[in-house]
Amino acid sequence: LVPELPEVETIRSALVPALEGRQLERVSILDPRLTAPYPPDAVAAALTGDRVVRVGRRGKYVVVELSSGRHLLVHLRMTGSFRLHRNGSLEEDPYRRAVVRLDDGSDVTYRDVRRFGTWTLLEEGELELYLGKRLGPEPLERGYTSRRLGDALRGRRAPIKSALLDQRTAAGVGNIYADEALWCARIHPLRPAGSLDAVTVGRLHRCLRAALRRGIDRQGATLRDYRDPTGAAGSMQDEFKVYGRRGEPCRRCRGTIERLVVGGRSSFYCPRCQREPVPKT
Ligand SMILES: [Zn+2]
Repeated sequence: LVPELPEVETIRSALVPALEGRQLERVSILDPRLTAPYPPDAVAAALTGDRVVRVGRRGKYVVVELSSGRHLLVHLRMTGSFRLHRNGSLEEDPYRRAVVRLDDGSDVTYRDVRRFGTWTLLEEGELELYLGKRLGPEPLERGYTSRRLGDALRGRRAPIKSALLDQRTAAGVGNIYADEALWCARIHPLRPAGSLDAVTVGRLHRCLRAALRRGIDRQGATLRDYRDPTGAAGSMQDEFKVYGRRGEPCRRCRGTIERLVVGGRSSFYCPRCQREPVPKT
């Protein structure tokens, strides 16, 4: 599982009580890939002594706002995760990439088996520009209307599945929640994004937000070894309608869920409820 908006939101919530208001007393970054191209020791030194004002989220980034005005952006990618250690003693972990000692004596560690995760330290005033280039609107924000989704899809010939995975369409949506939303809205993953009429976009907008909200309510999905920072597992995986269910019956029509590759990514869908687009001749 690659963490998407609901999983990152779950992680953010668990980090809030541990981090907010705390001073970073000692920071060790053990893997240079985490902060590349910046040297890990320089980033660690810059973080040391700073204080956490707020732990936020944008798309799939955890955004740690510091009292210096800087922001630490953490992207977990494939296998990044945080752990909280209250008593200051750490067991051995070959996949540990960073350790942050807080001023209450606890530690926050970051582990990453495949090492694609990143820590990016931004100077004061850089956040909006950095995220603005990479991310579209937050799909769960109050002002995120069906019209905004429609605007983002208009004129696009890419398959709707690929358009949803583009973080500039709606920040934080990934493979799982895109598949779940398309199933709910009865849209075939290969439909050209710009071909959806307003009613269909409205259905997709509603389904996308509902899937993401349900994911947050269930504290994310847990597959393989993903855990939130307190070691808790989510339960969203028990409610998947299509994701990972190839060969199993559709929960709506009893058709058989199939798998298709779109833009290099697995897409699970029901060929009976999500009709294939008819090619124009
Ligand atoms: Zn079906």
